[in-house]
Amino acid sequence: MTIDFRSDTVTKPTADMMKAMMNARVGDDVFGEDPSINELENLVAKMFGLEASIFCPSGTMTNQIAIKCYTQPGDEVICDENAHVYQYEGGGIAFNSSASVKLLTGDRGRITAKQVKAAINPNDNHKAHTSLVCLENTSNRGGGSCYDFEEIKRISQVCTENNLRFHLDGARLFNALVEKNETTKQYGEIFDSISICLTKGLGCPVGSVLIGKSDFIKKARRVRKVLGGGMRQAGFLAAAGIYALQNHVDRLKEDHDHARQIADALRAKNFVKMILPVETNIIIFELDDSITAPEFVMKLKEKNVLGYAISPNRVRLVTHLDITEEMVKRTVDAIDAF
Ligand SMILES: *Cc1c(COP(=O)(O)O)cnc(C)c1O
Repeated sequence: MTIDFRSDTVTKPTADMMKAMMNARVGDDVFGEDPSINELENLVAKMFGLEASIFCPSGTMTNQIAIKCYTQPGDEVICDENAHVYQYEGGGIAFNSSASVKLLTGDRGRITAKQVKAAINPNDNHKAHTSLVCLENTSNRGGGSCYDFEEIKRISQVCTENNLRFHLDGARLFNALVEKNETTKQYGEIFDSISICLTKGLGCPVGSVLIGKSDFIKKARRVRKVLGGGMRQAGFLAAAGIYALQNHVDRLKEDHDHARQIADALRAKNFVKMILPVETNIIIFELDDSITAPEFVMKLKEKNVLGYAISPNRVRLVTHLDITEEMVKRTVDAIDAF
């Protein structure tokens, strides 16, 4: 049995999710005629108390569409230096939007209102026009860290005062919500747009949703088509999303509990120099000079446990829907035996 902690994207649809997919009613979504996609888009918009939403093939696409809608070529986007929109979207901010980026050094992927305020360019012809702030919650490279909602409110205030749009990369927002007892509505009230991934903790095979006001989503639909993201009978995928939102949200707490158990086992090892605080389903830890991250990952693999070396001395493990209590026990034993 291989125990795969490389990412929460490795999950396969459950039998019940497959059943929901097989029973989906579908149509041509480019014509707006896929009942399952329409149902998912209405459901998600309603959950967040926002007017509309759009189903897309990936979270990269939902983020990039938002950035495209909010910027003009030469504009500047403010985000943390570890943000997915900057680090892992193929240079898409430049490629798709011809925009520049102001990178801030946050605390485990989280930036502050004070930093954002200081990063806004003055209204000066020499300077790029600052038009957008992107946050990420939870932060992937921050080890699944969660924002303090009060800080998000303060950043929102800065955005309002300076006429900046405010986008959330919420690929793992539901992990933050269950952990911090927050609601989708409170996020919908504060952001201009939110991207959520169905393929991470929620366990779907494909799909992300971008949520916002109806005029914004109308524009987003146009950009999605330009990017080649207009899909046809994709209701089979939307049905998985509806199923996941109804059945896979509350259980995220189990993933967080599993992550804490594994972190506890790692903490007892003297070759583990540091573990980022485990707030949700991601464990990032640093090794001492006795072993490199790729070496450690290889040794884990010999015990049928898969992890990911994110740097020469840092390893990332991610818990998810396909990790059972039994797998966690085996992993803890494997770590203990090191
Ligand atoms: C996974 C992820 C995305 C989207 O990735 P896709 O693979 O394109 O769906 C966006 N932001 C964060 C923080 C992510 O972890």
